[in-house]
Amino acid sequence: MKLLDGKKVSIEIKEELKEKIRREKEKSGKVPGLGIIQIGHNEAASVYVQSQIKGSKALGIETYLYSFEDSVKEELVLQKIEELNQMEEIDGIILQLPLPEQINRSHILQAIDVNKDVDGFKTENIGRLHLGEEGFNPCTPEGVITLLKKYDIPIESKNVTIIGRSNIVGKPMLGLFINHNATVTICNSLTKNLKEHTQKADIIVVAVGKEKFLTADMIQEGAIVVDVGINRSIDEKIVGDVDFDEVSRKASYITPVPGGVGSMTVAMLFQNIWKAFIRNRRIMNGEENKGE
Ligand code: NAP
Repeated sequence: MKLLDGKKVSIEIKEELKEKIRREKEKSGKVPGLGIIQIGHNEAASVYVQSQIKGSKALGIETYLYSFEDSVKEELVLQKIEELNQMEEIDGIILQLPLPEQINRSHILQAIDVNKDVDGFKTENIGRLHLGEEGFNPCTPEGVITLLKKYDIPIESKNVTIIGRSNIVGKPMLGLFINHNATVTICNSLTKNLKEHTQKADIIVVAVGKEKFLTADMIQEGAIVVDVGINRSIDEKIVGDVDFDEVSRKASYITPVPGGVGSMTVAMLFQNIWKAFIRNRRIMNGEENKGE
């Protein structure tokens, strides 16, 4: 069994980005900018936002945090998004969850300029992904594909089973695997005989949110297992959805949790911000259409 070391790969990707940003700053004096919208005072969300700011700064990405009170009206947030859409120094905009009741997530997401949607959650970017067109892909599924490629794991013609069909993981994961010519099965909580689907898979992606959900009897010998899950165990450890000790004895490759897909997700966000920066400069210089 070999570990798919997301932490190591993500460090390499971040180092490459840091160097590109450093060179760009030297050349043009410009750096990528990330706008973060946070509403309310959720403690976990604040910790996450601070770590995003720290991570961005380490790469030379400028961050702009816009914090709103819990009671803010949706109109005000939409106004701010419109402002950020126009700001040249902001290349990417992300919306921190959770949101208070009066704020409709979809309204906010759809207001973000398609070329600044670095989370890749906007309908248009999801559509582009499924059509195999250039756009921003959601970071977690993009991280999974990038990790497999870094380990030279072939995807084409492989049988892939995804467990979980959420809009941010399972569904875009399906589109990306199809675009890479895999044969894909996607399961949900109503799937009958789940084991039948997982046992025939060369690659299994688990995104359910339940500790030890995937057990060794569910996989074939030599399968490649990608664990997207992030759960807190009874003893307060961060664990995935896979029974790692048992499954790792049968798998050919497996992602650890932590240090697997989660690390890749963060790196993919930075990669999308860099991509947005390049794209937005081209648009400003009239070398590319806005595409809207
Ligand atoms: P979600 O929106 O709760 O979706 C969970 C999916 O699992 C649903 O599609 C659900 O089916 C399916 N499911 C639940 N029980 C099942 C069962 N018994 N058999 C088959 N499918 C079942 O969760 P999510 O946002 O996709 O996240 C999933 C996990 O990944 C969570 O632990 C989350 O914390 C983690 N996550 C990690 C990262 C990362 O960077 N590593 C990023 C995002 C999420 P139904 O649709 O039928 O309900």
